Amino acid sequence: FSAKRIVDAYYARIRDFEPEIHAYTQLTSTQAYEAAKRVDDAIANGTFDELGLLAGVPIAFKDNMNMQGTNTTCSSHMLEHYVSPFDATCVANALHAGALPLGKLNMDEFAFGSSTETSAFGATHNPWDTSRVPGGSSGGSAAAISAGLASVTLGSDTGGSIRQPASFCGCIGVKPSYGIVSRYGVVAFGSSLDQVGPFARSVRDAAITLDAIKGYDKHDVTSQHLNVNYASVLQGDARSVLRGMRIGVVPEFMDAQGLHADVKERVHDAICALERMGAHIVEVSLPDARAAMSAYYVLGPCEAFSNLARFDSVRYGHAHVDATNLEDRYELSRSEGFGAEAKRRIMLGSYLLSAGVYEKYYYPAQQVRTLITRDYVEAFKQVDTIVCPVAPRVAFKFGEISDPTAMYLSDMFTISVNIAGNGAMSFPMPPKSPDSLPIGVQIMCPQFKDENMFKVAYALE
Ligand code: GLN
Repeated sequence: FSAKRIVDAYYARIRDFEPEIHAYTQLTSTQAYEAAKRVDDAIANGTFDELGLLAGVPIAFKDNMNMQGTNTTCSSHMLEHYVSPFDATCVANALHAGALPLGKLNMDEFAFGSSTETSAFGATHNPWDTSRVPGGSSGGSAAAISAGLASVTLGSDTGGSIRQPASFCGCIGVKPSYGIVSRYGVVAFGSSLDQVGPFARSVRDAAITLDAIKGYDKHDVTSQHLNVNYASVLQGDARSVLRGMRIGVVPEFMDAQGLHADVKERVHDAICALERMGAHIVEVSLPDARAAMSAYYVLGPCEAFSNLARFDSVRYGHAHVDATNLEDRYELSRSEGFGAEAKRRIMLGSYLLSAGVYEKYYYPAQQVRTLITRDYVEAFKQVDTIVCPVAPRVAFKFGEISDPTAMYLSDMFTISVNIAGNGAMSFPMPPKSPDSLPIGVQIMCPQFKDENMFKVAYALE
């Protein structure tokens, strides 16, 4: 075992496949080899066991996560030349646990999107069929896992951006309950919705990675200290893990308009498999979840508008060279730095928060948020997890969805979870035939009961 050789092998693979996939925005070989040297020195000194949970594990981070000395671009011209002066807590925790940082991963610009097509540096391609999108916004994080260009990766999920690309690329993607992973140092999109989580090729890898990055952080007041170890619940056979487990099926999701038959069938297969292994299947209702999309496209842009105000070209961000006064400098720099989808969100948020409009949209959206949260609380009195679709369909072709509102529908099954704050993950169902595209099933859990969804995924695996 040599960490250096692992890094060599991954970079060789990246050299071969990256031109086709474009999962990375940059490689961080200096940091990767430094980390490898620390691991190899520990092996030589006989202190390997003192290293952390991710010792010698090649990892990569979505490019909205600060890693000291690297560019953190959010796949935007706005931050193309920004160099991180510090590590995000999730990054620091992974590195402290001995992970080997291979690079930063491509994404939709500022995490606005569901296909990675809005990246200012070119789209990522789905490794299963390069004429298709990998999903988004964490498309690079998902594609890197399924193409074998990293062992585990981190992504962020504001409305589905971990789960939907995991479904499209056939890997595990976990959006933990809000508060399990610190958001400090992750460039904010919707601060009340954003959550960081792992992508991996196995349930155990995902659980170990989450164990390594989670925990209370004094820099993020919403972060929690929970005394759980997610990897340790993955033991024994499927029947014993599922003993007493009540799994919810939501008719509002299963009968939703727009859900494709192939996806519905695979979700149904998963539910049947779980029932055969001893789980109790219970029908539960989420009557207000249908309003989640409308609430999200008010709350999300409002928070994004506020968060993106900091990219004023003075403290942060691209600066237009010809600006002669402050107003021009803001206007010209922001016009040039942000792409079309970012501008759409900023303008929408600015409108929705203006006097007179706020009362009509923002305030009711917050009320809808309360109703959705209550729906989940009620449902989780009856069940321990919910199993449902991740995305309404399999990965689509580049350019196939050009209408923004049609693109927004990609998240019809994922968004309500961000609104309520509970956890959910995407689990890849085995392909039906050798040429079928990946389909993920979504497993949801009550807030801070994330071990429940890991158990269900472990049983399915
Ligand atoms: N696709 C959704 C959006 O465009 C969610 C993105 C995300 O989770 N970051 O806002």
